Amino acid sequence: CMASGAQKIYDEMVRLCEGIDGVQIEMEKDIPHVGVIKTGCQGLCELGPLMRIEPYGYQYVHVQEEDCLEIVERTVRLGQPVDRLFYRHGDEVCPKPEDIPFLNRQTRIVLENCGKIDAESIDEYIAAGGFAALAKAVTEMTPQEVIDEVTRSGLRGRGGAGFPAGKKWSQVARQAEKTRYVVCNGDEGDPGAFMDGSVMEGDPYKMIEGMIIAAYAVGAENGYIYVRAEYPLSVARLRLAISQAEKYGLLGDNILGSGVNFHLHINRGAGAFVCGEGSALTSSIEGNRGMPRVKPPRTVEKGLWGKPTVLNNVETYANVPKIIVQGADWFRTIGTEGSPGTKTFSLTGAIENTGLIEVPMGTTLREIIYDIGGGLKSGAAFKGVQIGGPSGGCLIEDQLDAPLDFDSVKKLDAIMGSGGLVVMDENTCMVEVARFFMSFTQRESCGKCVPCREGTKRMLEILEKIVEGRGEMSDLDELEELATMVQSMALCGLGKSAPLPVLSTMKRFREEYEEHIRDKK
Ligand code: SF4
Repeated sequence: CMASGAQKIYDEMVRLCEGIDGVQIEMEKDIPHVGVIKTGCQGLCELGPLMRIEPYGYQYVHVQEEDCLEIVERTVRLGQPVDRLFYRHGDEVCPKPEDIPFLNRQTRIVLENCGKIDAESIDEYIAAGGFAALAKAVTEMTPQEVIDEVTRSGLRGRGGAGFPAGKKWSQVARQAEKTRYVVCNGDEGDPGAFMDGSVMEGDPYKMIEGMIIAAYAVGAENGYIYVRAEYPLSVARLRLAISQAEKYGLLGDNILGSGVNFHLHINRGAGAFVCGEGSALTSSIEGNRGMPRVKPPRTVEKGLWGKPTVLNNVETYANVPKIIVQGADWFRTIGTEGSPGTKTFSLTGAIENTGLIEVPMGTTLREIIYDIGGGLKSGAAFKGVQIGGPSGGCLIEDQLDAPLDFDSVKKLDAIMGSGGLVVMDENTCMVEVARFFMSFTQRESCGKCVPCREGTKRMLEILEKIVEGRGEMSDLDELEELATMVQSMALCGLGKSAPLPVLSTMKRFREEYEEHIRDKK
């Protein structure tokens, strides 16, 4: 929305609404005050800039600066809608968010406040029930009870690997070393992924609350949020949220009078994809070059500055407050047995409605692409979807009905990753897709180990040869051999998963590789 001019619209609305107080409207409600607030992402990226008018609940889409006067005259002053700004789904007019299929088919836990509250106002977060979980944790629960509740909920890390969060926390709490850290991975570097950035921009308080609860549970007095420097709005809002929380006694020394101390710091990354890997991330916070190291020891034993460290991502922490308030049993009613809760995804590519969504784990790709995403652009046929970022895998038509959860996606030779979904239509060249992702991982390889440093380079050379029509059939064997070698011998997750796009496209679209090679002759 900011990219499509939301700031100008905001400024114009503020100017026009200034001084409008005590509006009498025909719906027999008195509006004592008219205010204009900036919210975070509402999710409907394709339809921005978006404007929601409360208490009427109207959702306007594609708003332009020149629409503002009419909106103020009709809606703000009289409570009447400006019909032409409503979203249309075929012949159906959708005046409110709950009428829009993209929104009403979602289950929002992590994103519940995104697009609703002012992301720069801690008061609005508190008014929406924020920090009740922290208060409950520090006044009614022991640290062990907090860990038990998170363990029972079955919450798994949303950063990609799906490791149980409660188990990780209890491993840190068990360490003999008493200096511990809580770290949040907000490095989100996959092309096509913007879930964590949207959460940090739209509701920074929820993940901060989750981090404070984690710190209480494991006995950490300091925590770090590692954010991409390319997310300046996230950094600004997190900074503001931290200073507001400190002012309210929710962060710092003696939190809510409980004797618990926790200080939170922000660390900006410099845009290296590899810094999303745990040991590279902690190394980067320490001021060193972000390079993964051999494990064990694991981060829970020797993480940041060699101390036991809880490292989870933004979405994982943002799930915690609701689990503490509503309980593990409630959380387990959503999602699947092995992957309870919801998952946020960013929908991009050749799809009608791109945007940010949150659905229960186990939702099928078909529901996401067709029911929520509105199907493919211009009615083109579906070809595949890249899941899990550059190191994820490509799922095809036959797999549209597979449920999306950690275990099911793994069985399809792909990984859930952090939640980027790039949809591709019939016009997409899958060899070109594999080349694109390989060029990304090759560029981002930190160079520490030979299989990844040299293997991805050689694989990229072969893919370029094939795309440019200079390939030989024997290149395919070499490509496969290299992919298997890199996958089994690379040091960290980046290298191990880098060949996945090549392997999955070769398995499912081998004829396209062969066509490129035959066409040159
Ligand atoms: Fe670096 Fe790649 Fe080796 Fe990971 S696999 S340590 S990114 S060279």
